[in-house]
Order: sequence, then C-alpha cells, then structure tokens
Amino acid sequence: MSCLDRQTVLIGLDGASFTILDHLMEEGTMPFLKKLISLGCRGELTSVIPPLTPPAWISLITGVRPGTHGVFNFLQFESPKSRYIKWLSFRDIQRETIWSIVNRHGMRAGSLNFIGMNPPPAIRGYIIPGFVSWRWLRKNSYPEDLFDRLRGIDGFDVKEMALNFREEEKAVKGCQREEYEDWIWLHIRRERQWFDVVRYLMKHDPCHLTAMIFDGLDRIQHVCWRFLDPAYALKAHAAWEEKVRRLCLQYFRNLDEFLEQIVDLAGPQANIFIASDHGFGPTREILYLNQWLCQQGYLKWKDNTAMGTKSVAGQSEDIESLGVESPYRSLLHLDWKKTKAYAATASSNGIIIQVAGKRGEEGIPANEYFSFREELIDKLRNSCLDPQSGEPLIKEIWTREEAFAGNFIDCAPDLTLSLRDSGFISIYPSEVYCRPRSQIMGTHRPEGVFAAVGPAIRKGEVIPPTSIINVAPTLLHTLGIPIPSDMEGQVITQIFDPAFLRAHPVETGAPTVPPERNQDASPQREDAEGQEQIMLRLKSLGYV
Ligand SMILES: [Zn+2]
Repeated sequence: MSCLDRQTVLIGLDGASFTILDHLMEEGTMPFLKKLISLGCRGELTSVIPPLTPPAWISLITGVRPGTHGVFNFLQFESPKSRYIKWLSFRDIQRETIWSIVNRHGMRAGSLNFIGMNPPPAIRGYIIPGFVSWRWLRKNSYPEDLFDRLRGIDGFDVKEMALNFREEEKAVKGCQREEYEDWIWLHIRRERQWFDVVRYLMKHDPCHLTAMIFDGLDRIQHVCWRFLDPAYALKAHAAWEEKVRRLCLQYFRNLDEFLEQIVDLAGPQANIFIASDHGFGPTREILYLNQWLCQQGYLKWKDNTAMGTKSVAGQSEDIESLGVESPYRSLLHLDWKKTKAYAATASSNGIIIQVAGKRGEEGIPANEYFSFREELIDKLRNSCLDPQSGEPLIKEIWTREEAFAGNFIDCAPDLTLSLRDSGFISIYPSEVYCRPRSQIMGTHRPEGVFAAVGPAIRKGEVIPPTSIINVAPTLLHTLGIPIPSDMEGQVITQIFDPAFLRAHPVETGAPTVPPERNQDASPQREDAEGQEQIMLRLKSLGYV
C-alpha cells in the first residue's frame, strides 16, 4: 500500500485488442481483468495514423498527434534534407511527456518499458526505457544507480528483461513449429522480469504516476494470431498447435495475475488505467509495394537485383514479407537515378517521393511535387488491384498534410497507406506484387483498448471510442494537474464519477515546456549503442 496522497497507475498493454481480451475474459483465462473492467469504464481507444507502436505510444504520453511530437516510425530521417535514417531516441520527441509535467507539479513519476525514452532525461522518479538491448539498458536507465538497487530483486536478470533481438529474429524468421514454444516462453519470462521490477519499485520507490508497458502481447499476436483469435483458435488444430495455443493462454493467464498484484499494490485509493497503443487483427496477404511501384515505372531495381518469392538467404516466404532482413539491403538495390517513389520501411506503410535537391540530386522537379503526388494517388487507387478479383488492395491513402499536420511534416512519408487487410507492406522485390500469406498472421488495427477503474471513475460504463491523445490529459486530471493549453487531447470526462468531476472540474493551465535533454546522458554512449545494435533491431522487429 502506498503512502502517497494520490496515485495514478497506467498499465500499457502493447497491441491489446478487445477481440482477444473479451474472449479470454469470457472463457476464464483473465478473470481478474474481467472483474476489474466490470468495476470501472471501458471503451475502444483509437490509435494514430499509422497505428504503429512508436508514434502511438508517444502520442499517448504527450497528448498530441505525431505531426506535433515528431515521431512517425521506429526509424526517423536524420533531418528533412537527409536520406539517412536512424533509430528513434528521446531526442526525437519534440513534446514534453506526462512524466515531466507530473514532475513540474511537484510529484514523482515512473516510466517503465516505453520506447523512445533513451537516453533518459533526468526525472524525479525513474525511467527504464523499452527497445534497448540488455548491454545498454543499465546505462540508459535513470537514476544511474537504479540497476544497483534492482539487483536486490530475487531472480533479477537483465538479459531476460531486455528484448533479446537475436531470439526475436529467430522466432519471426522461423515460424517453425519447434520454435513457437521457446519463443512464447521467452516472453513469459520477460514479462515476469518487468513485473518483478514494477512490484519492487512500487513498494520501495512509490510515484504519483507509475506507467509501464507489457509488450509480449504484440509479439505473440503477430506470430500466433491464429491460435488466439476465436474466429480461428477454436477450430481443430494439430496436437502441436494445441500445445502452442495453450502456452499462449498461459502468457495471458500470467499477465492477469500481474495485473491483479499491481492493482493490489497500488491500493484502493489509486486510479488505474489500462491502454493499448493499437489493436490487432488478422492479415492474409502481402502487398509488395516497391514491386508495384516498379511495374508502374516509378521505381527501378538495380539490374542485378534477385527476384522471386524466396529471399536471398532462402528463408521461408513469410520472412521476407515481415521484413526481417534489413531494409537497407533492399534500398541498396534501388537505381536512384530512375526511382521517383519508394517505400523505405514496411512498418510505416509509407511512400517517399524523391524530389530533386531534397534528399540528394535525383528525383522529380520540386514544382511537380503536387501533380506527381496526385497522379500517384490516382494510380494507387485505380491500378493497385487484386490480380484475381480486381478489387482495390489499398483501403485508404493519406497525404502527409492529412496524416501528419504539424511542425515536423518534412520528415514524414509523403503518402501513408492502409491496406485492405490492414497488413504491413513488403518493401522487397518479388515476381508478383500481391500474393496470399502461407498462413494467417497478426497485424495492427487502429482499434485499441482503454479501461479505467478507481475512486474517481464511474462503474460499469462503456464509453464511445476515444482517441489515444486523450489519455495523457485524463491521467493528469486524476492527479489534479491543470491540462496544458497546447495539449491536443482532451480529458475523457465521461469516465469520471459526477461527484468527482464537480469537486475537481477540468482546468486548463500553462502550455507545456520543451523537453529537457539530460546533459549527463553521453551522446557517444548512445551512438555506440546505435552502431552496434541498429541492424540487429531492424532484423528482430519483424515488421520494420
Ligand atoms: Zn505496439
């Protein structure tokens, strides 16, 4: 039980979707979550465009859209003029985070496993960033002696806690039947490590705002969707598949126990929030977008580029489609003199238009940008079709002004696509531009989850879908903090008990302050980490 006068806990569940959670709550795998939600409010949480982990979580912790906070993808252009891309770091987040705002109001804040939080800013509380390999996790956590304290936790193992990029790559690469179980176990053990850290810090270093992410859901759902979605999971499986399914359920059962203990530790006076960065759904086909651009004359592969549905290394077909191999390899295969438009990463589902003088000399003349873009949109709508049925393969197309209006638009893709089955594109060469996957995989959907419970929250309410940018102001309101005037999101007032809202009306306060970079965080350290790890991370993510 905490000694703080007020406390808010945010439990982030990466990629959580009610499609899966409702089923698991009904069939008894997650009884605590079922009870918890029945005591509070729930609703769909609408992600950002595109519904991707980095822009979505950064929107959740800043209360603004990607065009305002400047994070669009795992990889960012170094500058509007640069063709080089680099891994996301805290320096790319152009807005103040909830932890900093909470600190400025005299309260303590904790941040566990959030992407983009390294090198960590100085904070009253603690930060352990997500998406950092174990070698660098200690040095990228704050305060510097935090890991010395964590060593006191029974069974603490930083190697198990950090993402193991080599293992992740193996799993996504393989999808071999003998590899599923090891891989799910990896995530079961990882979540246990994070939970142990959460429990230790909530007991020994309580904060007014404690925010954490459990991210095994995202990874398990990508690979094991067909074992989880009731539309497929309840059909007959081979014995080995049934074993994999049961292990997936074990992951969720453990998660449910962690939720129970976290809520218990926070105590009855705490307000608890559960949120995901995006939802999940099935994907059945692969669109090789660069191949389509090539066939339309917008992109040229170098003459010696290998074609075919088998990748260079001879891995299984879904490896390529998930983009396990480095996108650099693919981009190295482009003939830049004859390429006008290309997709750089699968994760962004974005197209970059080569404008002469913007990122190098090659490209279309700058004064033709808008007419070229219109032509390309028209082609994508009317010529990117299912070769069998003739149906459009692309559901929606956003220009960067539509998707990313804000100060950092020049670093965003020129076009962002949503495919008809919401899958990620492939950036690789292929003989055909579209084909079915060998089996159903999981992919992101905009419909995430939101739930809240606590003394300030109404009971038994289902609220209409609400935007992910509304979470930050809502968390601040539970702590009595006025909402910064430049936050784009708004407090989700429907979730609050009317008596609470009367006693604590929403107040607007001064604007946010620019993010403070930790002067002690050595840039060399981060760069060295980048050099060593970036290729591994790209490979391991599966959908970069
Ligand atoms: Zn995610």
